[in-house]
Amino acid sequence: MSVRQIVHIDMDAFYASVEQRDDPALREKPVVVAWLGNRSVVCAASYEARRFGIRSAMPAVTARRMCPSAIFVPPDFSRYRAVSQTIHEVFHRHTDLVEPLSLDEAYLDVTQPKSGLSTGLEVAIAIRAQIREAASLTASAGIAPNKFLAKIASDWRKPDGLFEVRPCDVQAFLEPMPVGKLPGVGKVTEQRLTQSGLETVGAIRRASPGILESKFGRFGKRLIELSCGVDESEVVSERPTQSISAEDTFESDLLLEETTATIERLANRVWRAASGEPRVGRTVVLKLKTSDFNIITRSHTPERPPMSESDLLRIALNLQLRVELAPETRYRLVGVGISNFSDVEVDTDQLTLFE
Ligand SMILES: [Mg+2]
Repeated sequence: MSVRQIVHIDMDAFYASVEQRDDPALREKPVVVAWLGNRSVVCAASYEARRFGIRSAMPAVTARRMCPSAIFVPPDFSRYRAVSQTIHEVFHRHTDLVEPLSLDEAYLDVTQPKSGLSTGLEVAIAIRAQIREAASLTASAGIAPNKFLAKIASDWRKPDGLFEVRPCDVQAFLEPMPVGKLPGVGKVTEQRLTQSGLETVGAIRRASPGILESKFGRFGKRLIELSCGVDESEVVSERPTQSISAEDTFESDLLLEETTATIERLANRVWRAASGEPRVGRTVVLKLKTSDFNIITRSHTPERPPMSESDLLRIALNLQLRVELAPETRYRLVGVGISNFSDVEVDTDQLTLFE
């Protein structure tokens, strides 16, 4: 079994930190992000506000009572989303295996980071620095061989913290941990576990599997796995690929027939990228930009998706023939793409039986 490198990134007091970043008058003050109104709840609280006991999801009126001097700010999700996009751009410098949990939190599988860094720790250090640079905000990071440990680790040195659970440290890390830290263990389960004398993760690991399963059913099995630091769940990236494309701008504008060599090169590049995809793209797209910046696209969705580079190239060159501008038109750019990705049909064999 190969050891994975999972990083969990969690922005510190995200919405409140964005507000403090953007309005100097809020810095170092207890800031509560919440809608106005008697029934509203706290969306986020700055660390200064947390010192008064204010927490996310608490009724805003309670927060007000706990800290009458707190500054209340209504949430502005369009701004938070823009920052979220910035931090995702940072993530994608390192890996495309990014699973967001919310606007400010994500798992990253950096076992083979495309940034070429050699350890998850190095990636996490780089990401924290790059987020600070790009967004002027702090993020905490956890590094571990799996998702659940990475998430616990990111919380370990919060705020502005970094913590790694190395494979050799997993057992020692989990041994004294309160059971409530385990994913899936809410207040009720926590109470049942502690009433059974199981207060720490170490105690669960030493407990009899039979008793755990009889008390907690299937979750008992999961508890045993977690207590041993086992969690095979994958980092599921946010959105499967919708399209893959490549384009090139020419040194000097070309006639249509002179674009063929570039189309061949681009088809090769696109095909190589598409072969790494678990799904197949069904539509081939050719894009051209004329010397006066008009963009023309031609696309074709064959009955059978392109299954080889030569399929792709043949379709792209057919699309080139369908460009019916004046022959003297010159082009400054050409692009080739595959889009409309969907799951591979697994029942083609069965279909042929009935043909
Ligand atoms: Mg956060």
